[in-house]
Amino acid sequence: MRVATFTVGGERRVGRVDDIDGTVSPFDIPAGDADTGVAALISRNGLLPGTLSPIRLDRVTLDAPIPRPRRNIFCVGKNYHEHAHEFSRSGFDTSNSDGAVPKHPIIFSKVPETVIAPAAEVIIDPAVSTSIDYEAELAVIIGKGGRAIARENALEHVWGYTIVNDVTARDLQSRHDQWLVAKSQDTFCPMGPFAVTRDEIDLADTPIRCYVNGDLRQSSNTRYLIFDIPTIIATISAGVTLRAGDIIATGPPAGVGIGFDPPRFLKAGDVVRVEIEGIGVLENAVQEIRH
Ligand code: MG
Repeated sequence: MRVATFTVGGERRVGRVDDIDGTVSPFDIPAGDADTGVAALISRNGLLPGTLSPIRLDRVTLDAPIPRPRRNIFCVGKNYHEHAHEFSRSGFDTSNSDGAVPKHPIIFSKVPETVIAPAAEVIIDPAVSTSIDYEAELAVIIGKGGRAIARENALEHVWGYTIVNDVTARDLQSRHDQWLVAKSQDTFCPMGPFAVTRDEIDLADTPIRCYVNGDLRQSSNTRYLIFDIPTIIATISAGVTLRAGDIIATGPPAGVGIGFDPPRFLKAGDVVRVEIEGIGVLENAVQEIRH
């Protein structure tokens, strides 16, 4: 099932997407619940509400699948081999992980307020950062919380997946060692366009690509993750209780801006397009802040 969170007539709704008809059928749930997006479905323990009349997708404004997560988004750093090497070479890596490829997953987070809608603008502020980068990533949406989740049961805790662009201020990432500020600048987490249930994605073979202004930058496959999703879930939940609705961004493949020499940072007017087969296309323009 493919699900959209969207606004129509000034009201937020969550609905089931029909790709063939190009429509979305809103679930019959209270407006207050729909404000939480896909989280409203997850909290119903798999019992799907009925749907209302379908609406053409081109008549609605898509929101992020979970427009305001309940807490920080968990993220994994350096989780594809080639990216781990390009990041190490770039001079921006202060993670001290004793070599390019980490022995254990690097886990950091972004604040919930970074999340923006599929067509919203990423805002860059040259007074704060002059080296803003894109990171196309598959994101896991937790369906069933838990602590000490075993690898072999981990996928049962996954509701589904979406796309995030883990936008990063590289100068801040390097300067402050800890990554929270570099990763949590306002508008730095485009998410969407849809969320899909876990049965829609084959983790052993899902292509992931990122284009900037039509130029292919990142192209890989989820099969090349260093730490797979069960390992990531087991690692975090070992001592941090995961909750339904938590989001985990699994890391970017090689081809981010700092992978180039000289680096290719984002600038006003750029358009970043992330594609993950089975989920869709997340496309966001970049604009400079207007003071
Ligand atoms: Mg990232």
